[in-house]
Amino acid sequence: MAGLLASLEPWDVTIIGGGILGTSLSYWLANQYEGRIAVIEKEQQVAVHTSKRNTGVIHRPFYLDPVNRRVFARASQAAYGMWKSYAKERGLPWSPVTTFEVATREADVKRVEKYYHWGLENGMGEDELELLTAEEVRKLEPHVKSHGAIWSKTDTSVDYPSFTRALQADAEREGVRFIFGFEVKAIGVAKDLLEIQSKNGGEAIRTRFLVNCAGGNSMRIAHMLGLGREYADLNFRGEYWEVGQQWAYLASRNIYTVAQHPELPFLDPHWICRADGRREIGPNAVPVAGPYTYTGFFKNPIQALEKILEPPMMNKIALLYNKDFLTLAGEEWKSSIFKSEMARRAQEFIPELKLDYLVRPGIAGVRAQIIDRNGTFIKEAIEIKGPLSYHITNYNSPGATGSPAYAAWLVEKLGSLGYLDLRRRSSAISKAPWDYDSITSMVSDSPRILA
Ligand SMILES: Cc1cc2nc3c(=O)[nH]c(=O)nc-3n(C[C@H](O)[C@H](O)[C@H](O)COP(=O)(O)OP(=O)(O)OC[C@H]3O[C@@H](n4cnc5c(N)ncnc54)[C@H](O)[C@@H]3O)c2cc1C
Repeated sequence: MAGLLASLEPWDVTIIGGGILGTSLSYWLANQYEGRIAVIEKEQQVAVHTSKRNTGVIHRPFYLDPVNRRVFARASQAAYGMWKSYAKERGLPWSPVTTFEVATREADVKRVEKYYHWGLENGMGEDELELLTAEEVRKLEPHVKSHGAIWSKTDTSVDYPSFTRALQADAEREGVRFIFGFEVKAIGVAKDLLEIQSKNGGEAIRTRFLVNCAGGNSMRIAHMLGLGREYADLNFRGEYWEVGQQWAYLASRNIYTVAQHPELPFLDPHWICRADGRREIGPNAVPVAGPYTYTGFFKNPIQALEKILEPPMMNKIALLYNKDFLTLAGEEWKSSIFKSEMARRAQEFIPELKLDYLVRPGIAGVRAQIIDRNGTFIKEAIEIKGPLSYHITNYNSPGATGSPAYAAWLVEKLGSLGYLDLRRRSSAISKAPWDYDSITSMVSDSPRILA
């Protein structure tokens, strides 16, 4: 298949990665521009990795700093209405379970109040948010202990793989070609084209422009082209435990807690109400050796060693001097090895939860977190410009929520940066589910673009 495709004329744009971001991007590119557009994906279908292995929540942006996390906040806000109408139109799961973000310490009450204002600043309506006292939380969720909470009334549980598959079908209708089972091993520059080599051998795929949406592998792919050398990535596995159905009554809404370490907000496990009604506890954030290490620490010792020695090393060495990080990493490992530790963390806000209520492990997903030379965790997505390529990395939570809006805005930006040497479509091929212009203007602002 790959050989046949490679012998054709070069693709105008090739996207690496058939996750929710690459798939959304391919849809918008083909919707807006004429040209030969391909998505290459190492697996046999879309949304196999992070876009499937996540909490499944459409996050409303009340907890996102409107300044430091502006792009994620705007994309999430714009995408909420998009997903809502899309789910309705396509008959996809949409479970508006809502979320309580609870203060587990008295000191967190101030934070919860701040979230209320952030939510409004990020465009949420007053009717979507409510501050609750501890007593009000108890009335609505009698088994939840807190010092108060913010109630986000439009947080919704969904199934991101089914969204991604529907978007793939839309993209294909617009002419996008998905090439599965092609794992990018190396990328070479040949005059004004890029040649993408597959791990399985065979002919290279040639492209006039490349967009890297390879999720956990995106930094490695940028490094293949000598880009983003100042960054390193670390992988954290988020594990979940399923709660037996007979204990589902413990809470009927998602229960999140105010982050104990705001600079590492992905560390605290939650009580989750999945779109299919299952209840789960998770995720924790266990440091692991690779983006696809779904069990154990590494797939083989060579992979672990490679990861540790992978350049740049300075970023990781800087982090080894961070005592807080090392303590936290140890705690996260404890919650991976001992189910009792995971239960204990959930008991802080649902004291009645017992160890044996956690009946089986749920799906695990791995986050690739980028650190800079000082060992600092970068909060926003990072976009890296190359001569014939553009790379999106650190596209972490709430990335699934924001993807259709962020992708539209990215297409607009690639066009205005002069990267898309293609003719703009004068009319759409098929009826678009969303309005491109209003979405791009809702997101418009610039994240870090590195020359
Ligand atoms: C534990 C956890 C919970 C989360 N919960 C939520 C949530 O509730 N709500 C939310 O909005 N966000 C959540 N997120 C974040 C969200 O899941 C991600 O932001 C989003 O899925 C990223 O999508 P992506 O397309 O960039 O990456 P991916 O889905 O990982 O897609 C990248 C694709 O690239 C392919 N690829 C990689 N390397 C190669 C290669 N060499 N050759 C070819 N193909 C390649 C991979 O196979 C993969 O399919 C969560 C993340 C984690 C880890």
